Amino acid sequence: MATSHESSGNSSRSRSMSDQQCQVMCYHGEIAPLREVKYNGPTYGKKFYGCSYWPRTCGYFKWADEVHEIRDMQMRLLEKDTEIAELEMEKGFLEDKIKRLKEAKLKLDDVVEELSIENSEIREGLYAAKADKRVILGLALSWIFFLLYVLIK
Ligand SMILES: [Zn+2]
Repeated sequence: MATSHESSGNSSRSRSMSDQQCQVMCYHGEIAPLREVKYNGPTYGKKFYGCSYWPRTCGYFKWADEVHEIRDMQMRLLEKDTEIAELEMEKGFLEDKIKRLKEAKLKLDDVVEELSIENSEIREGLYAAKADKRVILGLALSWIFFLLYVLIK
């Protein structure tokens, strides 16, 4: 009665999972074969892994879709772990790069400081030169005035 309803609900979900029939071990340490519920009940047609010594089973029983879901999650976890490892490697590279850039910046800071000191020295030199010119001009002018004064007199 509930057969068609249950199987149609399952088929879409278990379709991709039935492709990858994985090896599952029972508590005996033996491969638990993939089986299908044959009882005419609400779980009819549902796949499961169970002990191969049925009916004298070790009690191992797992729904196939649950097992596959767990495998899927484990696979995804593994992928994430690889991703994390790759990201950590990239992080290491970037940290190295940052370190090198910081060192380069420090060197540049030194160069800039040296240049600014040089610049201020040049500016001071220019001021001194201008001051010298003013002194010379002043001297020359005072000489001219002195000469004029002498000549007029
Ligand atoms: Zn068993």
